[in-house]
Amino acid sequence: MDRKADMPIDLDKRKYEFKRLLEDYEEYAGSGTQLVTIYIPEDKQIYDVVSHITQEHSQAANIKSKDTRTNVTNALASIRARLRYYKKPPKNGMVLFSGAVNVGSGQTDMVTEIFESPPQPIQTFRYHCDSTFLTEPLREMLIEAGLYGLLVLDRREAHVGWLKGTRIEPVKGTTSRVPGKQRKGGQSAQRFHRLRLEAIDQFYKEIAELAGNLFVPDRYELDGILVGGPSPTKDEFIDGNYLHHELREKVLGKFDISYTDESGLSELVNAASDVLADAAIIKEKVTMNRFFKELRQGERATYGFMPTRENLIMGAVDRLLISSDLRKDVINIVCGNGHQNYEIIDTRSEKVEKNCSDCGEKVKLVEREDVVKHLIELAEYRGTKIEFVSTDFEEGNQLLHAFGGIAGVLRFPTNI
Ligand SMILES: [Zn+2]
Repeated sequence: MDRKADMPIDLDKRKYEFKRLLEDYEEYAGSGTQLVTIYIPEDKQIYDVVSHITQEHSQAANIKSKDTRTNVTNALASIRARLRYYKKPPKNGMVLFSGAVNVGSGQTDMVTEIFESPPQPIQTFRYHCDSTFLTEPLREMLIEAGLYGLLVLDRREAHVGWLKGTRIEPVKGTTSRVPGKQRKGGQSAQRFHRLRLEAIDQFYKEIAELAGNLFVPDRYELDGILVGGPSPTKDEFIDGNYLHHELREKVLGKFDISYTDESGLSELVNAASDVLADAAIIKEKVTMNRFFKELRQGERATYGFMPTRENLIMGAVDRLLISSDLRKDVINIVCGNGHQNYEIIDTRSEKVEKNCSDCGEKVKLVEREDVVKHLIELAEYRGTKIEFVSTDFEEGNQLLHAFGGIAGVLRFPTNI
């Protein structure tokens, strides 16, 4: 089987790698306007990018500060050298960072990094030169890209649209001819009331059709539908079962809002922010609950670095759970007596001064690696599914703090 076709693993792993790299690049600063960022969409020709860089290169000659000029020139040269290896941009495009960054006490370091195939496509070519790298567009791509249907309505007007990731897309609106509450002279009150109800009913049917036409074709991809409006209109509409039955069960909630034009759609998303945040972590909650259930039953759960690692190597782990906030390195150490061990240390601790846990002798460092990368590699080798769990909810927090950020649900019981 082609492992690359297994999207969930790849996507999560990719997101993790991006997140870690971004953390570094968000921190970097240059002493001048000398850090170059380039966003390249998939359909951009590499030679176009190269000629843009050549142009920037010749303009850099005009920079007054000698240091900045040298730094910009070097960054551009480095990018151009790296681009030589590309015939065309990879899927979803790529982002290049290059520049001399401050490393303290007046020193700088030259860094160059390419982020290939971000989790979402890059839309437009961007050249950016500043004292920091342009990281926000990449950061936004890491936000869970859910798909939600939006519907706002009252008795006069309705609008439908999408929430795609963090982007709101208004699609269509409609207005009603429902008469106001004041009847004209000569109409009987009863007859007026009946006509008004009929007109409202008619309008709700029209809204349901508007929503149906937009949402039904995408009902399987939809993460949910949000409905907003004043009371009791939205309640009448929902409780009156106007909405297509397959859409009804997708309604995540109804929210009090005051506008039903396009601006009502963003009012709706704001009002629903708690519900949206919950929806994103529901999947992770399900995962954690399964782990806790197995843990209570005592046979098919593992946690902590060493036990999980051993289970992974045996091929016993069905699902590997890693805390998104885990920042540790794994070190492979060996002592003079040949005892070889793995240990976990904080990513920030630079020196490795340890004694052998078997004999107490001083140890030598053989290898040091990011613990998540280490585990992902083992998991992929054994066909284990990987899930990253945020710390935005109680069980996720427990994973990081009570279980060392690493746990697994097993395929079969082991004695580890
Ligand atoms: Zn030893």
